Amino acid sequence: MRPGWLNARAANTLQENESASLPHVSRRFRSLILAYHAVSDAWVHQLAMPTLLMERQLRSLLYRGFRPASAGDTLSGARRLLHVTFDDAYKSVAGALPILERLGLRATVFACAGYADDGRPLDVPELAEEAAAHPEHLATMTWDELRDLAERGVEIGSHTVSHPHLPELSDAELDRELRESRGRCEEELGRPCRFLAYPYGEHDARVQTAVRRAGYAAAFSLRGRTSPTNLYALPRVDLYPRDTLWRATLKTSFVRQPATAVSDLVRRSRRPT
Ligand SMILES: [Zn+2]
Repeated sequence: MRPGWLNARAANTLQENESASLPHVSRRFRSLILAYHAVSDAWVHQLAMPTLLMERQLRSLLYRGFRPASAGDTLSGARRLLHVTFDDAYKSVAGALPILERLGLRATVFACAGYADDGRPLDVPELAEEAAAHPEHLATMTWDELRDLAERGVEIGSHTVSHPHLPELSDAELDRELRESRGRCEEELGRPCRFLAYPYGEHDARVQTAVRRAGYAAAFSLRGRTSPTNLYALPRVDLYPRDTLWRATLKTSFVRQPATAVSDLVRRSRRPT
């Protein structure tokens, strides 16, 4: 079956042309990288994946022949590799790790440096109301907690300092978000911070170039904003509680869905009131 990011290709032609000078993976990117946010049975929200559903989704992918791989391995161009990522570094993710460990799966957690300093709830404007009502569910991991994860074999990547809309920043602000988050991550954890996940999956050619200049090896987006060969716009399949096993199977079989919950959130927050 044709990968969905190939179907998305026409829509991304302009972006690919604009970023033609960026390094590309030598072969088409054919791994499956999942993007989750929180993992919780207590928080009923589109960003919170129930543990049993996540486990069923992962088991189903392994049954379908996907093989566990590290984030770095997925760049090799090998087929049917599976890597699991978690954006925002919610505290609840640590509780879900035993599931991944049992299944032999490798994971990356993308943390915002500005939140890891005190582990406060992710109170970005789009989630401010939810963070005020349920701070415990949006609490993020501190550097100590991220260090524990790294020692258990989880890769820690950058999700910037403050979770901004990167394409809207000035060059100087963009540079600071990318370099400072990477530097803080390496300083705190004592290991390389090689990967970035774009907040809201948002990026453009200018952002991609800044990410490369800031020293990242690759950057991950979400569906619909990606190129299968651009190292700085690698596709991930984002899964949400509404993705029953059947829906998740369709999404990971590269059937393209028009919108994601994160972009829904952004759109809703920007609707004039
Ligand atoms: Zn995020």
